[in-house]
Amino acid sequence: MKKNDIVELNIVDMGVDGEGIGKYEGMTFFVKDAIIGDVIKARITKQKKNYGYARVEEIISPSAARITPECELHRRCGGCQIQAMDYKKQLEFKQNKVRGNLIRIGSFAPEFVDEVMLPIVGMETPYRYRNKAQFPIGRDKEGNPVAGFYAARTHSIIPVTDCKLGVKENQIVLERVLSYMKENKVEPYDETTGKGLVRHVLIRYGFTTKEMMVCLVINGKKLPEAEKLIEKLSEIEGMTSISVNQNTKNTNVILGEVTECIWGQPYITDYIHLRKCEKTEQEKFTPTDTAIAYHISPQSFYQVNPVQTEKLYSLALEYAGLTGKETVWDLYCGIGTISLFLAQKAGKVYGVEIVPQAIEDAKNNAKLNGISNAEFFVGKAEEVLPQFYERESRANTEQAMLHPNVIVVDPPRKGCDEKCLETMLKMQPERIVYVSCDSATLARDLRILCDDGYELKKVRAVDQFGNTTHVECVTLLQKIVK
Ligand code: SAH
Repeated sequence: MKKNDIVELNIVDMGVDGEGIGKYEGMTFFVKDAIIGDVIKARITKQKKNYGYARVEEIISPSAARITPECELHRRCGGCQIQAMDYKKQLEFKQNKVRGNLIRIGSFAPEFVDEVMLPIVGMETPYRYRNKAQFPIGRDKEGNPVAGFYAARTHSIIPVTDCKLGVKENQIVLERVLSYMKENKVEPYDETTGKGLVRHVLIRYGFTTKEMMVCLVINGKKLPEAEKLIEKLSEIEGMTSISVNQNTKNTNVILGEVTECIWGQPYITDYIHLRKCEKTEQEKFTPTDTAIAYHISPQSFYQVNPVQTEKLYSLALEYAGLTGKETVWDLYCGIGTISLFLAQKAGKVYGVEIVPQAIEDAKNNAKLNGISNAEFFVGKAEEVLPQFYERESRANTEQAMLHPNVIVVDPPRKGCDEKCLETMLKMQPERIVYVSCDSATLARDLRILCDDGYELKKVRAVDQFGNTTHVECVTLLQKIVK
């Protein structure tokens, strides 16, 4: 077998990145866009010793889980990997991904994993869930400005103004930005030459408040004829904030450091409600009256799927098991989304986050909501926590400070630093709630905690990113009482 050969494959499994897996004469092939249950003709694109990669050439018999995706561009765009798979099957795929990682990487017994894992919490529909969109701006063959998405693994733009994961309102904003550019001869940025002005359009939408923010990222300081753009955008319903961000660097990072609000307020407001999770059935999340308001500026980190975030954080809060007196640490706290919920039910909350601006936001959000029992520290969790512990141990501080009741962590994909886990183990909280966006590093970290006095009680996946292979999890660990 060699490159470009055609092989017939039965797709019998799915890889963690959503690729279909099939075998041919003892050789394993990974096939992008193939779905478990498909029988396909595939063209080999890369051949290694025991495995290879292939492309779908023809679907001989489609999987029962294959559906017609909402977006025609799903195979070309890098955003959605599993859009052609029925949503129920997507959830099953995600549940199995988490389960598999707990068994393989975390070395937990399959029977035990099945005991502690609850059913994944899915969305009602896996479309139109994102509250934030960042469209790169480029040029089509005729030289007209276009907005769109980068094709998978490239930097060429596929023109599209209506991504099905984002809100419908994005389209009207983009069309108006593009017509303003055309009419006023404002050039799109060209990353190969470093010339041109408009690089990206960032749009945020408050799902609860319906407030809208537009930020144009430009390779310069000033937008020419800005009032013409303002005129077009400000009449869109819900428009609350229009700003310009300066990014003159040759970089893949979207936003530069300086943002200037040119119309309205520099932020939008949105709310996250607390939802009660009843039993284990996925759709039985009912909102309670607890809501936290957030001011969101162009640079702020804010969860992109607000509906599922409510479910995720409500579960985290439920697992924290607070009664009103507890001391809680919230590590990797971002703008304090979880911390502020915890604070309403705890005695004291300490948040730790590496990005100074996020901590500024967290403090402001605490004030905005009249929360005074949350304290925030800027720094790395693996430095702030050990320093705190050592300092307070030397000072003979009361046990309550040294041994919080609960530690919540919500680290980025690479998981918790070992030094952080080590200190958590020294602090011996009664419960640890681990929120994770990567079940592989989650499994690794859970193993460390479970080898040193903790028992895994609950694992629940929450789908925040339908049609993609990403999956979030909330887990509860309890200290083993000797
Ligand atoms: N729970 C938060 C954000 C979680 S995302 C929310 O929902 O708003 C993970 C966060 O960890 C990010 O805000 C990131 O900036 C922060 N982070 C990354 N590395 C860190 C470290 N070593 N110590 C503390 N925070 C870190």
